[in-house]
Formats: sequence, C-alpha cells, structure tokens
Amino acid sequence: EARLAYADRPKFADPNKGIHIDANENPLGPSEGARAAMANILPKGGRYEFSMQTELEETFAKMQGLDPESVNAYAGSTEPLHYTVLAYTSASKPLVIADPGYEAPMWAAKASGAEVIKVPLADPQGAASHDIKAMLAASPTPGVIYVCNPNNPTGTVTPKEEIDQLVAGVPKGTIVLIDEAYIHFSDTPSCLHMVKEGKDVIILRTFSKLYGMAGIRMGFVIGRPDLINKLPSLGGQNSLPITAMAAAKASLEDPELVPTRKKLIGEIRTENLNWLKSKGYHVTPSDSNCFMLDVKRPGKEVLAAMAAKDVYIGRIWPAWPTSVRITVGSREEMAIFRKTFEEVMNSSTA
Ligand code: PLP
Repeated sequence: EARLAYADRPKFADPNKGIHIDANENPLGPSEGARAAMANILPKGGRYEFSMQTELEETFAKMQGLDPESVNAYAGSTEPLHYTVLAYTSASKPLVIADPGYEAPMWAAKASGAEVIKVPLADPQGAASHDIKAMLAASPTPGVIYVCNPNNPTGTVTPKEEIDQLVAGVPKGTIVLIDEAYIHFSDTPSCLHMVKEGKDVIILRTFSKLYGMAGIRMGFVIGRPDLINKLPSLGGQNSLPITAMAAAKASLEDPELVPTRKKLIGEIRTENLNWLKSKGYHVTPSDSNCFMLDVKRPGKEVLAAMAAKDVYIGRIWPAWPTSVRITVGSREEMAIFRKTFEEVMNSSTA
C-alpha cells in the first residue's frame, strides 16, 4: 500500500494498538536471516556500498535465469510502478486497469495526463479475474495495461494463458505492466519468462509482502534493458538503503522462506474463508494474503464499527461498496477479527 499524498489521505490508526489487517502487510516481519543481515551491515551505514545493489540484482537474476541487465532494484516497487506509468502513458496513450484493482497506477496517470480506463473484473461473483478481452478492447492506443496477479484487493488470479493472450494481442508500443507483488502466496505461474523472450512487458516484484519487509523497502523492476532503462531518468538515480539490500539478499538466499510462509498464510486464509462462507458471506476466491468480503451493507459502516473496537480492516473500492478488503493476519489476529466481526454484524448500529 502506498501513502496517499493528497487531501483524501485517511487518518492512520496507532500501529501500537489493536489489530491491523488493513494494509496487506505480513505480521511475521523480516525473516531471522534478514534481521541478522541488517544488524551485521549496520556499521557500514556511512557508505553508499554501490556494489551491494549489483550483487542483489545478480543474485535474483541468477535464481530466475535472467540477464542481470534486465533487473533493477528500487526501495520498494511503488517507485518503478510510478515511473513505468509516467514513461509509457500520455494524453494520447491511456492507462488501462482492472476495477477493483490497485490504485497506484492511477496516481501516476494524473501526472502524465493519461486517460484512465477502468475495466470491471470478469465474473465478480465467481473467479473475479481480469477481463483480458475487455482490457484489450478498451483503447486502440493504450500506453500501459496494468495486470496485478494475484490482484489487490481481491486476491484472485488471472489465468496465465489469458495473460499470454494479452501480451500477444497488444498494439506495438504498448507495455503490459505485470505486478507480481503477491505472486509468492499463489500457485499461479510467474510471467518472468516473458522478459527472457523479449516481450514488451515490465514486471514488478516486492519484498513488502511475503518477505515481511514493507517498512524496510526493497523491490525489483524486471524488463528488457531498453524498457526499464527509461525509468531512472524520471526519478533520479538514487542509491539504496544498505539494510534493505542486505535483508533482501538474505531473504532470497533462504530456500525455506517462501514455501514456509506461503503454507502458513495459505492455511490461515483457508480457515477464515471457510468460516466466513459457513456464516453465509461471499468472499473472493483468494490465492493471496488478502480477499474481499461482502458485508451486505455499506462497507464503510462495518469498517468504522470494527475500528471503534480497535480492529482495523482494509479499504472499500467504489465499484464494490458493500465489500471490505481483509488482509490475512496471524492466527491470533484473525481469531480476534472473527469475534469482533460477529459482534459488529450482530449489532443493529452497523
Ligand atoms: N503493488 C501492489 C499490487 C501492492 O499492493 C503494493 C502495496 O500494497 C505495491 C505494489 C507497493 O508495494 P511496495 O512499494 O511496498 O513494494
């Protein structure tokens, strides 16, 4: 999640109080290895340590069989997401996004002057995947078509074959921006191979979700060098925090981290989706660490009533006003969520 810089910025709850399942964070935080790596590197904090960035990019590239020139690290994926939309959209090249979807690309389109075309998710009561056909048909000259897989806020996946069709079908010069922030939680295949194949795609990865480093800040943009090398000129050539680079490298080098956390979060997600379904609620079929829950009344009332009991659930999307986004927290947090949710839904005031 990114912090809105505009007047409609919400007031943030005290992070030291209550249950926070509102921002798709990972309650586990950085891994033990990442914490140790940060502590070890701290004395070098007076240096830029440029070589660490190269090493980190090379580590990821090697793991994925990519050319290191096609991987650039940033302090989180928000920056390269923003710069990609700035670089490839304009007043004559719209941004095409899914709705409900992650809003950050729209904020960049405000700056580039691009029209934003929102395409409703297909089959909202079912798979709630991206409507790839409609996204392809949305504009004759799209600058960027943004696909978030799994999607934020629904946690739903779009079949890989459909993303293949999208990439094959876009007009020349259109970038398909594939946001894989939540891919580690999911069984859906990654699209990284498209970079090796020289496609017009740009892919985003982050350490903020499964790796539990939202507050540490590290992410990657992956794409053909000629595509991603347009980005630094839009945001300066910043050097990266050495703590974040050390933590990211240690996280990548731990082979147990992704499978262990994916399994745990997946189990907690399933328990809660099943409980909500058993109580008669519709939930999106999430393969991620968040899902949408239809509360059958204005979502903002339920959000406020939960917040009054110090349980902070996620946001509302205007397209689905009776749904709220829930982040999968720890087992303990989710037990409190369920208890509080029942209280709120059984009371007549919410
Ligand atoms: N992309 C998606 C889909 C997200 O949900 C988020 C954060 O919630 C981000 C990108 C940005 O994350 P970060 O800048 O922490 O990498």
